[in-house]
Amino acid sequence: MPELRQNFFSKEWVIIATERAKRPEELATHRTAPAIPAFVETCPFCPGNEGKTPAEVLRFPTGATEPWTVRVIPNKFAALSSEVQPKRTLRHLWRRIDGFGFHEVIIDSPDHSGYMALLSEAQVARILSAYRERYNALSLDQRVNHITIFKNHGADAGASMQHPHSQLIATPVIPSQVRHRLFEALRHYDDVGECMFCHVVEREIEDQVRIVLKGEHFVAMEVFAAATPFATHIFPLRHMASFGDITDMEIADLAGVLRTLLAKIYAGLENPDLNFTVRSAPAEYAGARHFHWYVSVIPRLTRVAGFELGSGMFINTVLPEAAAEFLRKVAIDKAWGATAAP
Ligand SMILES: [Zn+2]
Ligand SMILES: [Zn+2]
Repeated sequence: MPELRQNFFSKEWVIIATERAKRPEELATHRTAPAIPAFVETCPFCPGNEGKTPAEVLRFPTGATEPWTVRVIPNKFAALSSEVQPKRTLRHLWRRIDGFGFHEVIIDSPDHSGYMALLSEAQVARILSAYRERYNALSLDQRVNHITIFKNHGADAGASMQHPHSQLIATPVIPSQVRHRLFEALRHYDDVGECMFCHVVEREIEDQVRIVLKGEHFVAMEVFAAATPFATHIFPLRHMASFGDITDMEIADLAGVLRTLLAKIYAGLENPDLNFTVRSAPAEYAGARHFHWYVSVIPRLTRVAGFELGSGMFINTVLPEAAAEFLRKVAIDKAWGATAAP
C-alpha cells in the first residue's frame, strides 16, 4: 500500500510509492568506475598550480613550509562578491540587494582522485576543521546572515571541476527555506518545551529501523519522510544549534561517520553523484535551544519531474527503512579506500 509521510520540520508531504517500490540495490548506477589520475597537470587545484587560483585564505598545515593538505581559496567564478556592499532597494514589489557575499572553495586534498569516501578519516577531519574555521571567521562579518557549506560530487550533482572540493557560500539574507525550518523548530519548542531534533534522534536510536550507523558523537539515519531515495541525515548527539560550535573531538567522530556513510553509498550504490550540505542555524542563533544542526546527504539517483515541480511534493520509490537496512549491510572496514597520507 502506498503511503504519505510528513516531514517533521518542513511539514512537506512525501509519497512513498511502495507499489512502484524498488529494492535499494536496483538503484545502483552500474557505471564503470572512471579511472581518475591522482595528478592532472592542467588542474588548478592540483599541487604545483597554486598560482593559477586566487590567493588562499586558509591552508593546512598553517605556515608555508610543508606541502598543504587542505586549501581554501575564493571561488574564481564566485556567485557573490565580497567587494560590494549589500545595499537594498525596493521599487514597487521588486526587492533587490547588491550581490554581496563570500563564495569559497575548499580543496579537499592534493589528490586529484581523492573523493571524500576514499580519503583517510584524518584527512576528512582536516576538511571539516577547515569548514569550521571559515564558518566561524565569516560568521563574524555583520553583513553575513547565513552560511551554506556543501559538496557537489559528480556532474549530475553540479560539480564542474573534477578535483574533489567543497564550497561555502555566505549570503546577506537568510534563505526562506531555512527561516521556515527555524520557525517550525521554534513552534515545536514553544509547544512541547524540547528541541524536536533531539527528540527525533532519541526515538530513532530507540527504534533502530532507520539508523545506518552511530559513532560516539554522531548518528546517521535515513529520513522518515525522505523525498528522494537514500536521503540521509547525520545529527550530532549533543544539542548544538550552530555547526561553528563543533569541538575537535566531535570533528574526529563526524569524520568517521561521514566517511563511512559516503563509503557505504559509494560501494553499495556504485558511486552515484551526490550532494551533501551542512544545515546550521544562522550565526545569530548559535546557542538557540530550539534548533539543532545536521548534515544532509542526498545521492542523486532520480530526477525531479513534473509532479515535483508542480506540487513541491516528491514521490520516493525506496522505503527509507529498506534503504537503512541496505546501507547497514554494506561492509566498510576502517582502512577502506584510503588514498591520502594518514
Ligand atoms: Zn586536480
Ligand atoms: Zn537538539
